[in-house]
Amino acid sequence: MTSLLGNTANRAEKYLEGLKTRRVSPSDEAVNNLKKLDVELPKKGWEPDRVISLLDEVGSPATVASADSRYFGFVIGGSLPTALAANWLAGAWDQNGVLYLTSPVTAVLEEISEQWLVELLGLHPGTAVGFVTGATMANFSGLAAARNVLLERQGWDVEAKGLFSAPEIKVVVGEEYHASMRKALGLIGFGRDRVIKVPVDKQGRMIAAKLPTVDELTIVCLQAGNVNTGSFDPAEEIIQTAKNAGAWVHVDGAFGLWAKASPKYAGLAKGLEFADSIATDAHKWLNVPYDSGLVFVRDRNALARAMTTSAAYLIESGRREGYFYTPEMSRRGRGIEIWAALLSLGRDGLAELIDRCCQLASKFANRMEEEGFTVLNDVVLNQVLISFGDTERTNKVTKAIQSEGTMWAGGTEWQGTTAMRFSVSSWATTENDIEKSVQAIKQVVESLD
Ligand SMILES: *Cc1c(COP(=O)(O)O)cnc(C)c1O
Repeated sequence: MTSLLGNTANRAEKYLEGLKTRRVSPSDEAVNNLKKLDVELPKKGWEPDRVISLLDEVGSPATVASADSRYFGFVIGGSLPTALAANWLAGAWDQNGVLYLTSPVTAVLEEISEQWLVELLGLHPGTAVGFVTGATMANFSGLAAARNVLLERQGWDVEAKGLFSAPEIKVVVGEEYHASMRKALGLIGFGRDRVIKVPVDKQGRMIAAKLPTVDELTIVCLQAGNVNTGSFDPAEEIIQTAKNAGAWVHVDGAFGLWAKASPKYAGLAKGLEFADSIATDAHKWLNVPYDSGLVFVRDRNALARAMTTSAAYLIESGRREGYFYTPEMSRRGRGIEIWAALLSLGRDGLAELIDRCCQLASKFANRMEEEGFTVLNDVVLNQVLISFGDTERTNKVTKAIQSEGTMWAGGTEWQGTTAMRFSVSSWATTENDIEKSVQAIKQVVESLD
């Protein structure tokens, strides 16, 4: 292949091939070299091959190899080959997902993905799905639907009148809620500091008995998958109480919601199907390329009413109009890769992906304990917290393993203890990667002694 796209595909393949042997974090040299991208903006543009060649030669080595099988940072997730390929084709299509009219193929793929996801995750039939950038915008969108519905029930049209002088909405969260929820609450006008925090247990789970009195002007925000421990709030107990009182229940399930796709782990997420809105990420555990988040709203009209405009120039076809379900109007067709990922995995493949990551996380935790290190959390899902002693020592080990390069895990703070956080969320990770990582950590610790 000698064409621009053919050459680029070769470069991309070579990059992915090279992940097996390169270090996970970029070297200091590679990062320093990024200044080579800052060429003087030419008066006359460069040839396409020259642009791509500079991008690859300088850019590729300076990437964090988060597509690699030994990247365990945050909860990032790899990219399934089929999903990546679909992403390339979608790039060539350059579709605008705003309307059926601007892209029938995007609308149809999102309609199919919506049905597949709702069924796979055991959610209420007819639930609407919005294809957004990530869990933060999914949390934002779910909260927007909640705000509109609760205030509408009080006779207040928040779209028209805004929040000033509106009946006051109470927001309940667990003490270990994610920073993304705090951001979304701020964006939606609820204020980051107005929340009522429910105490949590040692795994970060809300204590159901400590739920405050809730009513028809309350949004209860649960978490499915704590970013540190992987634990789940007790949805079954809380959702029933909240819904009986007329409250809205929103769930931040950025990665934990995917447990529902696995018969083995679905028990952790029991009861979530009764929530009014749920946020999750497809770029995390479904392993589609960045960026891709999903909001599920049980009452489809609630999401549509919170997101639509009524501009007269918008011709509606009676088909799925993407922008009815998202804050954006123009946007890329995220459902394209989701459709491809689900079709290439199948039901069993998705369940197997979830199970494998969880089993590898358990394996890692067991091996670390065997080597004499301390696991701080109950490893119920794919997240593992390791302590190497006091704060200074743990930070030292985390920093040293990052620069050593065999694997990458980040640092975190868990209920007052500093830890290394390890997340298994890629299709590519194998037992061999776990063992290699354990050995690398062991060596780093030995070299510090
Ligand atoms: C990752 C994560 C988020 C934020 O998701 P983005 O995709 O970064 O917007 C929110 N909540 C939890 C629990 C997460 O793990």
